[in-house]
Amino acid sequence: MTTPSLIRGYEVVIGFETHAQLATHTKIFSRSATAFGAEPNTQASPIDMALPGTLPVMNRAAVAHAIRLGLALGSHVAEKSVFARKNYFYPDLPKGYQISQFEIPVVQGGEVAFFLGNEKKTVRLVRAHLEEDAGKSLHEDFVGLSGIDLNRAGTPLLEIVTEPDMRSSAEAVAYAKELHKIVTWIGICDGNMQEGSFRCDANVSVRKPGEPFGTRREIKNLNSFKFMQQAIDYEVLWQIEQIEDGKKIEQATVLFDPDTGETRAMRTKEDAADYRYFPDPDLPPLHISQQWIEEIRGQMPELPRKMAERFVADYQLPEYDAVTLTQSVAMAKYFEEVAKTSGQPKLASNWIMGDISRRLNAQDISPADGIATCPVQPAQLAAVIARVANGTISNNAGKTVLDALWAGEAADVDVGVDAIIEAKGLKQMNDSGALGAIVDQVIAANAANVAEFKAGKEKALNALVGQVMKASNKTANAQQAKEMLLARLGA
Ligand code: ADP
Ligand code: MG
Repeated sequence: MTTPSLIRGYEVVIGFETHAQLATHTKIFSRSATAFGAEPNTQASPIDMALPGTLPVMNRAAVAHAIRLGLALGSHVAEKSVFARKNYFYPDLPKGYQISQFEIPVVQGGEVAFFLGNEKKTVRLVRAHLEEDAGKSLHEDFVGLSGIDLNRAGTPLLEIVTEPDMRSSAEAVAYAKELHKIVTWIGICDGNMQEGSFRCDANVSVRKPGEPFGTRREIKNLNSFKFMQQAIDYEVLWQIEQIEDGKKIEQATVLFDPDTGETRAMRTKEDAADYRYFPDPDLPPLHISQQWIEEIRGQMPELPRKMAERFVADYQLPEYDAVTLTQSVAMAKYFEEVAKTSGQPKLASNWIMGDISRRLNAQDISPADGIATCPVQPAQLAAVIARVANGTISNNAGKTVLDALWAGEAADVDVGVDAIIEAKGLKQMNDSGALGAIVDQVIAANAANVAEFKAGKEKALNALVGQVMKASNKTANAQQAKEMLLARLGA
C-alpha cells in the first residue's frame, strides 16, 4: 500500500452502493415489460400496482444475472438467500414497502480490481442483493399536479455494496468505471447511465490519518462519472471546512446539483431499524443449486482482465494496449479480428487506439461502444494494415485509404481496399529513379528549408520529407525519401 494522499491534512474514505438495473425482459416479480421510455403506466401490472390479492413470483433470469456477477467478482453465491420487506412510505411505492434482501443476500464478498494510473487497486465487496425499483413521481408544474408512473416499479436491481476501501475521488471513479465495464461485459446490465440503468451512491467521510472513520454522508444517485468526481470533491472540502470550523458532521443523505456543483442535505439518514425489515412472507427463500451455478460458470465469457493478460501473452502487446483494447467486448472482438486477419497485432492495436478511436471521438462516440458500428469493417482495416506492412502503400497513404473507407467509398467490402489504392494512385513507389527526381524537385523548390537544415535545424528535414510525400501523392517511402534527402544534402 502506498500512503494515501491527504487533502488539507485529511484522509478521504469512500464506500459505494451501486444500483445496476438488470437486463431482463420482464420485471423481478411480475411479467410486465421493463423497456425504457413507454407511456406512463402502460407497463404496470396489478402486482406492480400492489392491488390486493396479488402475489410476487421471482424472475429466474434476474437470479441468473446475480449469479453471473458473483462468479465474475469471485464472490460467494449463497445457496439460500432471503427476501425482506423494507418498509417506508412514498407515493411511488404503493405497497408501502420495497422487496429487497437484508440479512442474507444472494451475493456475498468478492472484489473489484483495477488500475489507477500504474497502481493496482482492489476494492472489497460486502455484498450484492436483489431488489425491486420503485415508481416515479412526475411533477407537472404547468397544471400544478403530480402524477405517479409505475412503469419502473418492480424493475429488477442488483445493489452492489463495497467496503469503505477507496481513498480519493479518482479511485472512486476508477472503481465505478471498472464495475460498469464488468456488468456490461457479462451482459447483466445495459449500463445506460442517462436512463438510470447504473446509479451510484457515494458514501464519503474524512479523518485525520490514524484516527477511526469519520461520520459519512451519502451522495445519492450519481449517474455520470463526471458528476461523481465533482460531487465527491465538493463534499470532501465541505466536510473538512465543517470540521475546521469546529462543527460535527451529521450522518445525512445528500443530493448533488450539477448546476451549482454543490451537494446539499436531503434528509438525515435513516437507520436500518427505521425500515422495520422483516422476511417477506409472500416469497419463499431463494435456493440456488450448485448445479445451476456450474451451468452458468460454463457459459461465462472470458473476463476483461483475463483477456488483457491473454493479449499480452498471445500478441506481445504492451499492457497499456491490452487494457485499452479490453474496454468493451465490442472493442476486444474488433481488435482480435483485425490482429488475426492482418497478422500484425501491434499495428492493429496502433490503428484502433489511434486512427479509429480518433475518428469516433471526433463524432462524440465513445470508441468502446461505437467501434462495433463504425463504418470500417475489421476485415477492411486488416487489409489496410497488411498493405502498409508489406510495403504496398505508405503509412500515410493508409490513412487516406481509411478516410475513403470511413466515407463509404468502397463499393465492395472484399476488394474495396485494393480498389481504393488503385483509384487514388496510392501504390508505393519502388522506382528510386522517380523518387530521386521528386527529391531533387523538392530541394530546388524549398531553399529556405534546405538552408535551415544546413544551419543545423533538424526539424527542417521533416518538412522536406513532408514535401516529398505530398509531391508523390503519399506514394513515396518516407524512410527512403529521408535517406535520399540526407545523401543529397551531404549530411
Ligand atoms: P447502510 O446500510 O446504513 O447504508 P452500511 O454500513 O451498509 O450502511 O454502509 C453503506 C456504505 O457506506 C458502504 O458502501 C460502506 O462501505 C460505506 N461506509 C460505511 N462507513 C463509512 C464511512 N465512515 N465513510 C465512508 N463510507 C462508509
Ligand atoms: Mg445502504
